[in-house]
Parts: sequence; C-alpha cells; structure tokens
Amino acid sequence: MEPIGLYLHIPFCDGKCAYCNFFSKRADKRTLSEYTEVLIASVVSWGKKINRPVDTVYFGGGTPSLLGHERLIAILTAVKSAFALTDSPEITVEVNPTSTDELDFSAMRNTGFNRLSIGLQSAVDNELCILGRRHNSADALRTVQRAQSVGFDNISLDVMLAIPEQTIDSLDKTLKFCASCGVQHISAYILKIEEGTRFYQLKDRLPLLTDDEQAAFYEYTVKKLSELGYSQYEISNFARKGFESRHNLHYWRDEEYLGLGPSAHSYLDGTRFYYDNDFQNFYEDHTVFESNGGDCEEYLMLALRLSEGLNFGKYQERFHQPISPSFLKAARRLSDQDLCRLTDQGVSLTVKGFLVSNAVIAYLSENT
Ligand code: SF4
Repeated sequence: MEPIGLYLHIPFCDGKCAYCNFFSKRADKRTLSEYTEVLIASVVSWGKKINRPVDTVYFGGGTPSLLGHERLIAILTAVKSAFALTDSPEITVEVNPTSTDELDFSAMRNTGFNRLSIGLQSAVDNELCILGRRHNSADALRTVQRAQSVGFDNISLDVMLAIPEQTIDSLDKTLKFCASCGVQHISAYILKIEEGTRFYQLKDRLPLLTDDEQAAFYEYTVKKLSELGYSQYEISNFARKGFESRHNLHYWRDEEYLGLGPSAHSYLDGTRFYYDNDFQNFYEDHTVFESNGGDCEEYLMLALRLSEGLNFGKYQERFHQPISPSFLKAARRLSDQDLCRLTDQGVSLTVKGFLVSNAVIAYLSENT
C-alpha cells in the first residue's frame, strides 16, 4: 500500500497580511482549544476509516504556531495513534516568527516534529512592513536559531519576490540572509495580487513591479540560490540535496493525501474532495466531491512543475500508453523557443518556461 501525506489545516492568524487570501481568522484561546479538540476527533475518525500508512504530516495554515506547543503536540500524538506512520516520517509545522517565543521547540522535537517552515518573506524590515507582516528580520533569525539549538536540522524559509519597493539588492540581502541562517530549504514565490486582499484594493496606487521586472527577480533568485547551494526542484522551491519537501512532492507527483480542516483538500482512493471554508461543515464532517483525480492531464500538469519534469517511462507505466506524437510535436516547438528541454527520456521546463508555466503547461496538456 502506497503511503499518503496527511495535511492538517490550522485556519487562524493574528492579523491579515496585505497580500493574503488564504482562509484564516483571528481566534481567542477558547476557539483554539475547541478547534484542537475537533481536529483531534477528525484525525481519530479518519484513522479508523482508512487503512493507509502515512509518511508525511504537514501542519499548515493560517498560522499553526498560534496553537502553541501543547495543542500541536496533542494533535500530533493523536495522529501517531490513529495512523500507521512509516519509519522516519517527515513532520512539518508552519510557524510565524511572531508566535514562536513561547513555543517549546524542544518538546515539539521530542514528540516527532522534525521540519519547520517559517514565514520569513523578506529580511528587509521595510518590505515586511509593506506586506503587513507582524515580525521583523531579528524575530525570524531568533526563531531559526532557537529551533536549530534544539536539533531542528530541516528548516525552510518562505521568501516573497516582487514586493513593492523591493530591488535586486534588497532581494539579494534576503537570499543571503536565508543562506547565512543555515536553513536547508527555501520557497520563493512571486507576489500575486489576489482579489479580496488589501493589496487588491490598493493595486492602482501600489508601485507594483512590471512583468519584465518580476521575470528578472525570478531569474536572479534561481541563479543566486544555485550559487548559494540550493538546487531548484520545483517552480518555486529550492533545497540542499536531500532536503526537498517530501510532503509537497506527494502533490506534485500526483500521489494521494488526506487534508483535514476547513478548506483542506484531499486526494484519496482516486477521488478529489475537500472541506469548504465553513467551520460548522468541518465540525459535521461534510466533504465536497471535487473530481475523479489521477488522469493523464492532471499528472502531466503536476509533473511539469518539477525540475525533473515528465518522465515518459513513468507516464507509460502509469497510463499504459506512450506519450502522444502530438504532445512530442508541441514539446519540440517549445524546446525551439527555449521554454522546455526535450530528451528521449522526458520533458522538463527551463527557467524561462517556469516563468510562463501556466501557458506552457496548458499548451502541452491541450496536446496530450
Ligand atoms: S500569516 Fe500567512 S496565512 Fe496568515 S494572513 Fe499572513 S500570509 Fe496569510
């Protein structure tokens, strides 16, 4: 039986960042405790329903660290008794530097948490202020160092590109900050202006970067992180060798996972389903059917996000058919424009291709 990933959504934040449209709310201690109890009940119930080993657990949000170490440990303890965890599972928790001073990292490490994903976004305090973040770079450094001091040796930092007023020099400062912290993994996302955010309301007045400037920032990031020893393994993800996020690889390799919490998505036994944003619906365990997953188009779209790209042998093994001649013809056209690399073994996007990945992947999947 193939192991699955388990995602636990913690939909609470201590404020709203100006760019964020994720589902999250403010919560008092009582709400946090109530939610913890419901989440544990959900873990226990799903543990009885499915009989699959779990090799990655990911506490995402929102801001999971707002729960505090006692609630986080209680949830992980429930996971360990409800599911059969494989040997050496990857167990990640997202933390924000504003909510970590009280966290007992040592107790968390002893319970099995072995990977932290920290929302740094920028090491330049003015940029953090523009983003509406509630920490500064000193808070982030303190968080990393406190975690490292108790043995966390798999830490990821989130970085944002194309922040208003960001320059190549200030981006360089952020990337060097990450490397100097000695973290093993960096996620670097280009700022997107999403509806329903403060940035969306202000978009006509914000000094947003042009598409060409964004492209230059992305290309600089790929080059700089490579120089600093982080290999790109996905459009927005970079790691030292052996520290790629195993949980996220489940998503990109079109493997199955279970997501618990409002707005969490699942792909299990060939079906994609989710809990909507309504707490009550989660409390009453109402899931919504999304689609039958795992078709060749979906597989291809996900595989092309990865630097390893689409492997023709694996594709044939999974779908019992070779990749189509029309796909190969389309890939050849893109390869002539330096948007992808085509070999006898497979196809993968170049950095230039990653920059326009939506269009490139859509074009290839139309020709599947
Ligand atoms: S902390 Fe994260 S989830 Fe919460 S508002 Fe900010 S970006 Fe969104």
